[in-house]
Amino acid sequence: MVTKLQESTKKIEHARSVTKVNAGDYYIQVIKQGETVRITDLEGNQAADTLFFNANDTDETYSAVNTIREQKNVFLGTGSILRSNINRGLLKIVADTCGNHDTLGGACATESNTVRYDLEKPYMHACRDSWMLAISEHPEYELQKKHITHNINFFMNVPITEEGYLTFADGISAPGKYVELEALMDVVILISNCPQLNNPCNGYNPTPIEVSIWAQ
Ligand SMILES: [Zn+2]
Repeated sequence: MVTKLQESTKKIEHARSVTKVNAGDYYIQVIKQGETVRITDLEGNQAADTLFFNANDTDETYSAVNTIREQKNVFLGTGSILRSNINRGLLKIVADTCGNHDTLGGACATESNTVRYDLEKPYMHACRDSWMLAISEHPEYELQKKHITHNINFFMNVPITEEGYLTFADGISAPGKYVELEALMDVVILISNCPQLNNPCNGYNPTPIEVSIWAQ
């Protein structure tokens, strides 16, 4: 993919909220139409497993299939419009200093930890656990298990081989890299800051991210 790096003009002191999210924790929030959210990879090589929903009807969820088909590219970067399961624009990536972001790899789960890594690994904390904890601790968002579907792995590097295989690879992110998105409708953002220790998506060393929101 031809990556299109784009710096933001927004200043952190103007943000209406700035939140540090440790690896293994979640972040859930409403972003109003016209507002901007920035996710920053504070220490580099982290993966932020992220779900998006229409805040006024959470059955409208982020769709990797619609997003990829409409932009005719499997990677996400500056200019990408994140589309819903009814093909409406949820958010647009307006700045990106990382290069590309994965939306094919899915999220880590205790089951996949067992299959991929070791029978001893199912007890390790996984992104799906963080999402389930978030929706149970925040019933006000009206999210259920069925809403845990397609996700984006911001900062995660999942190259595709010439034969079409997906591979995990060392991240291309670095300390302070960020991605910034403008909401095209009122959306709920739900992030699991990935606690995965078994693959290079976060350098075998999960680290914090920062989430900032600017009002319109
Ligand atoms: Zn994960």
